[in-house]
Amino acid sequence: MAKIVCVLYPDPVDGHPTRYARDNIPVIRSYDGGQTAPTPSAIDFTPGEMLGDVSGELGLRKFLEAAGHELVVTSDKDGPDSVFEREFVDADVVISQPFWPAYLTRERIARARKLKLALTAGIGSDHVDLAAAAERGITVAEVTWSNSISVAEHTVMMILGLVRNYLPSHDWSRKGGWNIADCVAHAYDLEALQVGIVAAGRIGQAVLRRLKPFDVKLHYNSRHRLPAALEQELGLTYHSEVKDLARVCDIVSLHCPLTPQTDGMFNASMIASMKRGAYIVNTARGRLVDRDAVAQALKSGHLAGYAGDVWFPQPAPADHPWRTMPWEGMTPHISGTTLSAQARYAAGTREILECFLTGKPIREEYLIVQGGGFAGTGAHSYAAA
Ligand code: NAD
Repeated sequence: MAKIVCVLYPDPVDGHPTRYARDNIPVIRSYDGGQTAPTPSAIDFTPGEMLGDVSGELGLRKFLEAAGHELVVTSDKDGPDSVFEREFVDADVVISQPFWPAYLTRERIARARKLKLALTAGIGSDHVDLAAAAERGITVAEVTWSNSISVAEHTVMMILGLVRNYLPSHDWSRKGGWNIADCVAHAYDLEALQVGIVAAGRIGQAVLRRLKPFDVKLHYNSRHRLPAALEQELGLTYHSEVKDLARVCDIVSLHCPLTPQTDGMFNASMIASMKRGAYIVNTARGRLVDRDAVAQALKSGHLAGYAGDVWFPQPAPADHPWRTMPWEGMTPHISGTTLSAQARYAAGTREILECFLTGKPIREEYLIVQGGGFAGTGAHSYAAA
C-alpha cells in the first residue's frame, strides 16, 4: 500500500467554507486543441467547493483510504520541524500545489528513498528539482491545461488593472474620496498599445486570443514558433529574441516555465532596455524576474507598473519588497486556483493517482519527467532548447 503526502494551503482564516457565492460551475469537457478534461473513474467532491485547502484534501481521502492507502495532508511544509519534513522521507507519492509549494530540492529527493511520483496539482513543476528527480527515476506529472484559462483571465485582468490604474482608484473609492485627478494621473487606455508575451504555450496563446479584441498590437517570443495561419489570424509579430520584444513593447506578459534558461530573464539590463513607462505582468514564476530590479524600476519611474501572482519563495515573507513597491498590482499566488480550476486539477490529480496505483500509463501530456529524463509536456516545454 502506498503512502501519499499531500501539501495544501491552509484553510481560510474563518474556517473551511460551508457556503459558496454560486451554486455550481460550468462543466468543461475539453480544451482548445481537443485535449479532454480529466477522466478519473469517479470523484468524491462537489465541483465548485473548496478542494485546495487542507480540509478540502483535493477530495482524495475516501478514494485512497478505501483502497488501503495512507494519506497525510498538511500545510506545514517549511523548516526542519515541519510535518512535511517528517513525512516525505518514506512517502511513495508527494502531491503539491504551486500556490503553496513543497520544495522538493535535490537534498530532499536524496532523502526520499521511496519516492516514485511527484505530482503537481496544477501546472508548473519547478518546485521539484527535475534533474535530481530524473536521476532517481522519479516520475513528475502535472495536470496540463487544468488552470491555463484561469491564469489567462487573471493576466488580462492585471493588464487592464495596471494600465487603467484600477487598484489605486478603487482605494480612493473605499476611503471615501472622489479624487478623479488623483486616479487618472496614472491611467491610460489599452487600445493601440504594443503588447508582447514571452512563451506562446497554452496560457500564452489564450492570453493572445483574449487580448485581440482590445485592438492592441500583439507581439510574441516563444521557443516554438506558432503556425503562420495563427500568426496571421491574431496579427502577431514574432521576435526570435526576447530582448527585441522587450524593447518595442508597452506591456510584456510572461508565460514560460521556470528553467535554468528562463531564471532571471528580466534582470536589470533587460528592464532598462524597455521603454520608459512600460508594464510587466508575471503570472508564470517569480524568479523569471529580478526582484530588486523590478522594485527599483518602479521607484525610479522607468516601469509604470508591475503585477503578478507569483513570488519567490512562497509564501513570500511579510517584508518582501513587492508588497509595498509603488504601482504594483500583486496578488498572492491565486490565479490558477479559483474554485473552477480546483475542480479540474483535483479530478486530474485523482486520474494520475489512479493510473499510478494500478500501473496504468499516465497520459503523455501530464508527464514532465519519466524514465530518467524529460517526457511529454516536459520534453516540449521544460527541456533545454
Ligand atoms: P505550456 O507548456 O503550454 O507552455 C509553455 C511554453 O513555454 C511552451 O510553448 C514553450 O515553447 C515555451 N518556452 C519554454 N522555454 C522558453 C524560453 N526559454 N523562451 C520562450 N519560450 C519558452 O505551459 P502553460 O500551461 O502555458 O504554463 C506556462 C507556465 O505558467 C507554467 O510552466 C507555470 O510556471 C505557469 N503557471 C502559473 C499558474 C498560476 O497560477 N500563476 C498556473 C499555471 C501555470
